[in-house]
Amino acid sequence: MPKMRSVQVARPKGPFELVERDIPAPRAGTVRIKVQACGICHSDSFTKEGLFPGLQYPRVPGHEIAGIIDAVGSGVAGWTAGQRVGVGWHGGHCGYCDSCRRGDFVTCRIAPQIPGITYDGGYADYVIVPAEALALIPEGLSAVEAGPLMCAGITTFNSLRHSGAKPGDVVAVLGIGGLGHLGVQFAVKMGFRTVAIARGNAKAPLAAKLGAAHYIDSQTQDPAAELLKLGGARIILATATSGKALAAALGGLDVDGKMIIVGAADPLEVAPLHLIGGRRAIVGWPSGRSIDSQDTLGFSALTGVRSMNEVFALERAPEAYERMMSGKARFRVVLTTGQ
Ligand SMILES: [Zn+2]
Ligand SMILES: [Zn+2]
Repeated sequence: MPKMRSVQVARPKGPFELVERDIPAPRAGTVRIKVQACGICHSDSFTKEGLFPGLQYPRVPGHEIAGIIDAVGSGVAGWTAGQRVGVGWHGGHCGYCDSCRRGDFVTCRIAPQIPGITYDGGYADYVIVPAEALALIPEGLSAVEAGPLMCAGITTFNSLRHSGAKPGDVVAVLGIGGLGHLGVQFAVKMGFRTVAIARGNAKAPLAAKLGAAHYIDSQTQDPAAELLKLGGARIILATATSGKALAAALGGLDVDGKMIIVGAADPLEVAPLHLIGGRRAIVGWPSGRSIDSQDTLGFSALTGVRSMNEVFALERAPEAYERMMSGKARFRVVLTTGQ
C-alpha cells in the first residue's frame, strides 16, 4: 500500500511526530486532496495542547489547506480530480440542523467538522475532506498564497464584507499580525478609510505599504481619542489578543459603530453606558462557509491581497509551529509538501 507522511500529535501537549501512514481512500461524499501547502494557525494549539473538547488522538493538525483533488469518493458531484482546492476551518456540516437549513453552515449545531480537530488535517501529504468543504483556488494564486487565506484570510475578509461599513467609512484594524496585516489589505481594497493600530511605531511603515491611510501607535497615543479625531470608527476589526488593547480602542467607535472580534482575546471590560448611548456593539465573527473561502480567494487574486508568509518544509513542522506561536513570524507560517 502506498504511504504518505503525516505530522501527528499523539496526546494532549505531546510532541509533533512525523509518521508514515497508508494513503487513505476517499469515503462516500469526500475527496482526497494531495496537499501542497498548509498554513499554521494559532488555533492549531487547540490540537497541540488538548484545548478542544472531545478531541481524539492521535490527530494531524492543519486547517489552512491548499492542494489538488487527487481522488473523488462516490456520490460527489461537481468536483473532479485535478482541480486546485482549499479547505479552511469550516470542514463540513450536518446539512439538516436549523443553521444548515438557513445555509449558515459555519454555525452547524449537530455535526460541525473542522480539519485538524474533528478529523485529520493538512500537516500531511494527503487529506480526506467532505466535498461541501471545498473552495476552488483561482489561477494566479499559488498553494502557498492560498493556504493562509483559508483561515486568516476568510475571517478578516468575510467579517469586513458583512460589517455594514461602506466605501469611505473609517475602519480600524486593531493588531497588525497574521490576521491584521490581511485585515488592513482587505479594508483598503474594499474602499474603507483604513486605520492600522498597533503597539509601537515599528509597524507604521508596513501599515502604510499595505495601504492604511492612518497609523495609531497604541503605546504613545490613545487609540480611542485618535479614532474620534477621524470622526469615529464605523468598524474596529479586533485581531489583537489583549483584552486591555480592545478596551482602549472601544471608545473610538462612532455612533452605531461596531467592534468585530476575530482573534481569541482575554476577557474584555466594557462600560455598558458607552454601548447604550450610541447603539454601539461588540460582536464576534467565525470565518465562513466554503463558498466564502472561495470568494476570499477570488477577491485576493483580483485585488492583489496576499499574506506575508514564512515557508517551511512539512518535516520541519515542530520548528514552524514554534515560530508561529512565538509571535515573531512575519506574518503567517506555511508548511509545504513539495508536491
Ligand atoms: Zn485558523
Ligand atoms: Zn448543521
